[in-house]
Amino acid sequence: MEIKITVLPGDGIGPEVTSEAVRVLEAVAERFSHELRLTTEKIGGVAIDEFNDPLPAHTLAACLNSQAVLLGAVGHPAFDNHPTHLRPEAGLLKIRNALGAYANLRPARLFTALMEASPLKANVIDGTDMLIVRELLGGLYFSQPRGAEGDSALNTMRYSVPEIERIARVAFDLARKRRRKVTSVDKSNVLEVSRLWRETVINIAKDYPDVTLEHQLVDACAMALVARPASFDVILTENMFGDILSDEAGAVVGSLGLLASASTGGPVGLYEPVHGSAPDIAGRGIANPLGAILSTAMMLRYSFNLDTEAASIEAAVEQTLAAGHRTRDLAAAGEPSLSTTEMGQRIIERLT
Ligand code: NAD
Repeated sequence: MEIKITVLPGDGIGPEVTSEAVRVLEAVAERFSHELRLTTEKIGGVAIDEFNDPLPAHTLAACLNSQAVLLGAVGHPAFDNHPTHLRPEAGLLKIRNALGAYANLRPARLFTALMEASPLKANVIDGTDMLIVRELLGGLYFSQPRGAEGDSALNTMRYSVPEIERIARVAFDLARKRRRKVTSVDKSNVLEVSRLWRETVINIAKDYPDVTLEHQLVDACAMALVARPASFDVILTENMFGDILSDEAGAVVGSLGLLASASTGGPVGLYEPVHGSAPDIAGRGIANPLGAILSTAMMLRYSFNLDTEAASIEAAVEQTLAAGHRTRDLAAAGEPSLSTTEMGQRIIERLT
């Protein structure tokens, strides 16, 4: 079949990890006889540098003309003092919104081979396999009104019942394909918007009597994620809480560099590693490409229904890690590690 995607490498380590993800996609396409049609465009800081716009119209048009989008990461400290609309992150929020990608799925599973890469004890992390379902188009990141004046600044957190209902349904539907448990995370002891969130989730749960629903306050959840990560199945939460908790989940399973994501709900799926542009290691060829590579597996599964191809990538990652190959973020201190491209190559060699 034809696989028509737009690649947005972005800033920092974005281009380093997406080029490995693309090499893996090319190898999969060849092995399974698919026709891969790739368009590459700019987003984020590199797009501001060239077009004075973090999401130029032609970039968005290319994305809307594809079946799926693979994004690396955006962001650079050089833009820290720019106005909001001229920051790389504005491009990211804009593309998520333009693609209608309201359901951000972030799996965090412990690879058995990486037991020692987690900062937690083996008996605590054993069996960790969670899916964070993060609402991506509402809450503080899309607040109205927003702004800064003098010595104060304003952002508002707002959610409507339909916005909560649609993301809750995604979480419950996915829980049915997993261990049938949803943990809804909010701050309902303090925030009105969280009380609406909780009420709405409870109402939706009535349609899913076979799924267990529990509620956790976000501060308690942050603690439980490190105290008993294996107790979670699906975590359902709003935009900012999901952003924070998924970085924590990345550390729990060994490295943020491992985490992949799919943003669905609109006509074109958006796939990106969970991490950012990592300016501290950019340009050194040491970034972990597995989050980006696993994002392509999610793309093949969700946007193209190519389960076998997706499973082939996931198995190659599992086997590569089991064989002891590590990028620097996963290696123990003083142990040798692979470069970004070497890790990409190991995955390609193991594709079946
Ligand atoms: P970050 O995720 O870029 O990095 C956090 C830490 O994790 C750093 O120490 C980094 O070296 C490490 N890390 C991240 N990805 C890695 C990988 N693949 N391999 C090895 N190590 C990895 O977060 P940050 O430093 O807070 O933010 C840097 C920039 O990225 C900021 O401009 C921020 O706005 C942006 N950002 C973008 C996205 C995105 O594009 N989706 C997400 C988060 C942050």
